[in-house]
Parts: sequence; C-alpha cells; structure tokens
Amino acid sequence: MSFQVFGIPVSRGVAIGRAVLVASSRVDVAHYFVASAQVEGEIQRAYRARDVVAREFETLKQDLRGDTPQELAALLDVHLMLLHDEALIGAATQWIVERHYNAEWALSAQLEVLARQFDEMEDDYLRERKADLEQVVERILSALAREQGLNPADAASVVQRDFAGEDPLLLVAADIAPADMMQFKRSVFHGFITDIGGKTSHTAIVARSMDIPAVVGTREASRLIRQDDWIIIDGDAGTVIVNPSPIMLEEYRFRQRQSELERARLARLRHTPAVTLDGERIELHANIELPLDALGAIEAGATGVGLFRSEFLFMNRDGELPGEDEQFAAYRAAVEAMQGMPVTIRTVDVGADKPLDRMSASELRHEHVLNPAMGLRAIRWSLAEPSMFRQQLRAIYRASAFGKVRLLIPMVAHLHEVRQILEAVKKVQQQLNDAGHAYSHVDLGVMIEIPAAAVMLPLLLRHVDFVSIGTNDLIQYTLAIDRADEAVAHLYDPWHPAVLQLLASSIGQARAAGKSVSVCGEMAGDPAFTDLLLGMGLRSFSMHPSQIPSVKQRVLRADAARLASFMPEIMGSEDPRLEAEQAFARNKPARTLQ
Ligand code: PEP
Ligand code: MG
Repeated sequence: MSFQVFGIPVSRGVAIGRAVLVASSRVDVAHYFVASAQVEGEIQRAYRARDVVAREFETLKQDLRGDTPQELAALLDVHLMLLHDEALIGAATQWIVERHYNAEWALSAQLEVLARQFDEMEDDYLRERKADLEQVVERILSALAREQGLNPADAASVVQRDFAGEDPLLLVAADIAPADMMQFKRSVFHGFITDIGGKTSHTAIVARSMDIPAVVGTREASRLIRQDDWIIIDGDAGTVIVNPSPIMLEEYRFRQRQSELERARLARLRHTPAVTLDGERIELHANIELPLDALGAIEAGATGVGLFRSEFLFMNRDGELPGEDEQFAAYRAAVEAMQGMPVTIRTVDVGADKPLDRMSASELRHEHVLNPAMGLRAIRWSLAEPSMFRQQLRAIYRASAFGKVRLLIPMVAHLHEVRQILEAVKKVQQQLNDAGHAYSHVDLGVMIEIPAAAVMLPLLLRHVDFVSIGTNDLIQYTLAIDRADEAVAHLYDPWHPAVLQLLASSIGQARAAGKSVSVCGEMAGDPAFTDLLLGMGLRSFSMHPSQIPSVKQRVLRADAARLASFMPEIMGSEDPRLEAEQAFARNKPARTLQ
C-alpha cells in the first residue's frame, strides 16, 4: 500500500530507490558493495564470523561453573539458537548475493528486518528476544571487524564498474550524528531520510553538502518504512512516498529528468564570473568539511573557501584528537587544492549537535540535561583548552606558507574573547618563529552568530580584518529556536524581521568600516535569499559547492542597486517575505542568461 511521510526538506531533488534501514547505533558499520567475483568470499566471511562466535558461546557454556544460575546457561542456548537460525545468516547472505552488500551491512540489514518482526510479536517473552538477537549480531560484527575485510575504498572503485545499473539505495535512519553522516559522503546512497533534525541541523548540512535529496524530521519514517521498500524522496517538498503507484513513479521520474537537465544547464555557468547586471562582482565561496571537498569547490567554480568546518577533523576519534602535524597536513591539502584562492579555516566548533564523541541527537537529548547549544561550544571550548587551541592555530598558520589562509573564529560574543584570541595568535607566531616554521600573513575574522556580536559589531570590527555571518546560529539564538529540534522547526524563520535587522545592520556596518563581510550560513546558498542579501549590500557568499550554480544564476540576473532600493520597504514591512517577493518580481532582468 502506498503512503506518504512528511518531513523537512533539506536537500533538493528527487531520489527514487530502495530503502536501506540503518539503526542509529549501527551507522558506523561499513556500507559498501562487493564485486561479483567477491560475493562468494564475502559469504564465507559471514559464516566464518558466525562460527567464531559459536565457538565463543560453546566455550562460555563449558566454562560455566556448577553454581551458575540455570538462566545463564539457558540464555547461552537461546543465543546459540539465534546464531544458527538461517533467518539470520542465511537471509543475510541473500543481501550479499542479490545486492552485493558487504557482510557487515548485510547482517545489519537483516537485523533490521528481524527486529521489526520481533517488535510486532504479541508475546512479551518473544518480543524481548530482540535484545538477544541484537547482542548476537553485535558479536558477529565484532568478529568480522577482527578479520581483515575488503578495504571499502577499494571496494567502491571496483563496484562502480561491476555493479552499475542496480536500484539506487536510499538511507533511512532514526537519527544520524553529523560525524557519522560524513562517512556517507561519496557513499553508495542516493538519498537520506531521518526521523530527527531541523533544516540547519549539522546532519542536514552534511546531507546538503552531498548534493543528494534528503528529508529530515519525519518523526517516524524509520518505523513506518521497511527494509527494501520502494520509496521516492521529494527533497523539494520534504515528502517521502512509500511504495509509490506506477503513475506516481512515472511522474517523479519525469521530474527527476527535468532537474538533471536543469543541473546540466546550470553547470555551464561554471566559468562565468559572478557579476550582477550593474557590474557588481560577487564572490561565491565554498563551505567544506574535509580537505578533499576543496576539489568539489574548484569543480563548482568557487572563488575560494569561505568556511572550512575544521571540527569534522576532530570528531569520532575515540578521545584521540588530531595533533598539530595531522591538522597541518589537512589544512595544507585544502590550501594547495584551492590553487592560490583564499581558504577560510574556522577553528574547531564542537559542542551542541556536534559532540566530539560519537553520539546521536537522540542520545544527546537524553545525556544532556542542560542546553548544549548554550554551553561550552566553539571558541568557548577552544579557550577552555588553550594548548589545544594554540596547536590548531599553529597548524593553520603553518598552512599559510602554502597559499592564502584566513582564520575564522566561531561563536564570539565578548571582547575579552577577541583579546584572548589575539594573545594566542601572538604567542603562536612567536612559537613558530622560534621553531623556524614559515608562515604568511593571516587575516583574522570572527563569526557573527550570536545577537550580542551583531549588536556590538562596531567594537568587534576595531580588532578584526573581516566578519562572516553564520545565519544558522544567528537565527537559532535570535529566535531561541534549537536548530536541530524538529519540534520547533516551524518557528525557525530567516525572514523574521529581527533576523533581517541584524543581518542588514551587520553587513552595513562592516562595509562602512571597510571590512570584508560574508554570509556562510545556509541562507547564502539558498537562491530564495540571493536578491535579499544583494540588496542588503552583501558581496561575498559562502555555500556548499553544489549550490553555487543556482546562486550564480540569480546573481547574473540581479541589479544590485535596484535591489538595494527596495530594502527600506522590505525592512519596514510586517511581512518582509511577501514584500520582498512582490518587490523582486518587479526587478525583472534586463539581460537574459548567457
Ligand atoms: C552558521 O551558524 O551559520 C554556520 C555557518 O556555522 P555552523 O552551521 O557550522 O554552526
Ligand atoms: Mg554556527
């Protein structure tokens, strides 16, 4: 039966394919395809791991002492029975044969199927056996981890050729932590659906950076959708259609083709400079999470990196943070990839929905009684860890010997923070001089993300070279809306007059002070806001590389001076969105797109 699930659209486009349900606790399980020639070997891996666990259980059983409670022996028998049940390993190998999943993925996929069946059982005793099954699978997964498997990176390259033409796969999960989402970059999935999350939650941001359709905040998609269901993700509307009818499939396939054609058309703008009709040159920079993303930035025609979210280098490291040399290598790689164009490296912004350790949003909600968004986040964390902070600054400064580097500090709210940062920079420069490390001039910028920073901007501008407005957080803190919480997502409003006032005044004040200002929050990459931001005087935008072509198209069609003339009406309106729509509709292009 066909039905729909509604959520929040976070990444545009249509994806049609089979659902792959992944439990939040298992998103770190490797997901890759094995080539045809490796299918048999992968099945053997699964059986070998099963046999290893069986031997472990047998040994445990033999070692039970006479005074051990009967229940323990019975429990081991249950585990052994589950282990040998063909509904587990036998059915999992079907995923390997039919879908070419690696053994770990096949087992997790089968676990999801069986877990559903257990959930639906009437009998309490049987229903509770789901936990036993999970423990058994956990053991097999760790046995597999101990055995040398195929390197996923190698597998991916083999499989592109070997496994082309299969049904696209769409990932469905209750919740995926931002760091876990990173492992799905360049992965086998063509779309994402999660139960939790808001439009600018970091999980959504990473999904958007992958440029594949995604819907978050569906609340119950992972409960309603079953493993292998056919689904359509409508990333524009935020809907998911489960088991679509043939007519629906046809309609969405048509839309999919249309949007591919549109993308191909926009891609032709890659080498066109972003200049408005009245001759204003606009910088379109890229937001990146990893050094490798810089290649995508170049490909999309970015003229620099406006935001390198360095925290992704620090997450899921099991307590072992990257040292100076490792960071230096990462920053240098990004800087060299950008071939002389500026790279804005933001110091680590952990905390809130980006914990250092693997923790999903739902775990965070239960773990933290206090509000992590208001806690020891970003620069607050860095200043609380001064040697870590200086280590990062040294790595960033050392990378400046290889290209143009700008240093960006997140979540600044106090002048004393800026003074501490300047002190740290001075000390780091001294350390680098003493150690004989080369570095060049590095511009210092702060992010305007907290209303306090926007309000006191003239004071901040005395100390910094540039500012970058993080609208994701600026909106969150201005409206007191947790950006990761789907329950208040309807109140997250970039068009709110208070947000617009802070944005316009920040852009205006920075320009008046002769300091460069950009927007690197999600508003910058949404073409619905391009005219507005140009009208406010913004000349530098930073966004996911995939968003550059459509924003560039808006820039090429815009008359910046005319847009600016509409600003008083828009800013004074009780409904700025409507006012802007009407005003901009009057700003018809005088020149058509080349
Ligand atoms: C922002 O807050 O707008 C921003 C760009 O930073 P992040 O999304 O990483 O918090
Ligand atoms: Mg931010």
